[in-house]
Amino acid sequence: MIVIKIGGAEGVNLDAVCLDVAVLVQSGQRVLIAHGGSAETNQISTQLGRPPRMVTAVSGYTSRYTDRETLEIFAMVTSGKINTLVVERLQRAGVNAFGLSGVDGRVLVAKRKEAIRIVENGKQRMLRDDYTGKIESVNAALLHMLLDAGLTPVVAPLAISPEGVALNVDADRAAAMLAGAVQAQQLVILTNVPGLMRAFPDESTLIDHLPKSGLEQALSFSEGRMKKKVLGAAEALDLGVSQVIFADGRVEQPITCALQGHGTVIS
Ligand code: ADP
Repeated sequence: MIVIKIGGAEGVNLDAVCLDVAVLVQSGQRVLIAHGGSAETNQISTQLGRPPRMVTAVSGYTSRYTDRETLEIFAMVTSGKINTLVVERLQRAGVNAFGLSGVDGRVLVAKRKEAIRIVENGKQRMLRDDYTGKIESVNAALLHMLLDAGLTPVVAPLAISPEGVALNVDADRAAAMLAGAVQAQQLVILTNVPGLMRAFPDESTLIDHLPKSGLEQALSFSEGRMKKKVLGAAEALDLGVSQVIFADGRVEQPITCALQGHGTVIS
């Protein structure tokens, strides 16, 4: 079982990813796909006159401030547009893909962050009315049911709270939780860089292999959203995934290359 996370950043070669998924599925491999959509949500919400508002939590993590209207735009873009386009390309490549978000069938259940403490202009303050969450459980039975039926699930980064409120969740951490829940051997995180770099953006500092024990240090040289990927990698390994690979999604045969060890292999 392999879980593939397709990045939402610009540059990822979706056609190449889908053709590669088709090769894996045709060889009998069970594949589950998770995707993001931050770049496109930023673009579309700006077009709608609601430019994204990024906030930095006291912990140092940056995330999108998601009020109800932003959540609805996020759902429209990720679950509506991006999910459908990924499913469409997979169908065209001969894969019977099945799109859903974590809200459907309670595939991803998350705890709503009631309030987040942020740093703004050097001052701390609390933000309420936020529709983001931290995933607490995964409905693996439903995913196995789809896989058993010969379908390839494609999961958009939304979750449902126990009370029934839809929430925006981080796609890398969703992929990690999904990989752990379906007991994947590998989690491949495709993005628009060749892997984790010790001194980003200097590609000569690309890390080929990182032991799990090196992840903590990796947090210190990862900026912004890369931090979430490193955190996701640690979570996936903790949940029993053998290998997490950060790989380039812009190349031909991106998954094949990743599984051959191109990128940053964390184990
Ligand atoms: P995606 O949308 O594919 O999930 P993100 O834009 O969230 O991708 O994260 C990937 C980005 O992280 C890269 O494009 C790069 O700008 C940034 N980054 C920060 N620190 C590092 C690092 N140490 N190594 C590689 N990329 C890094």
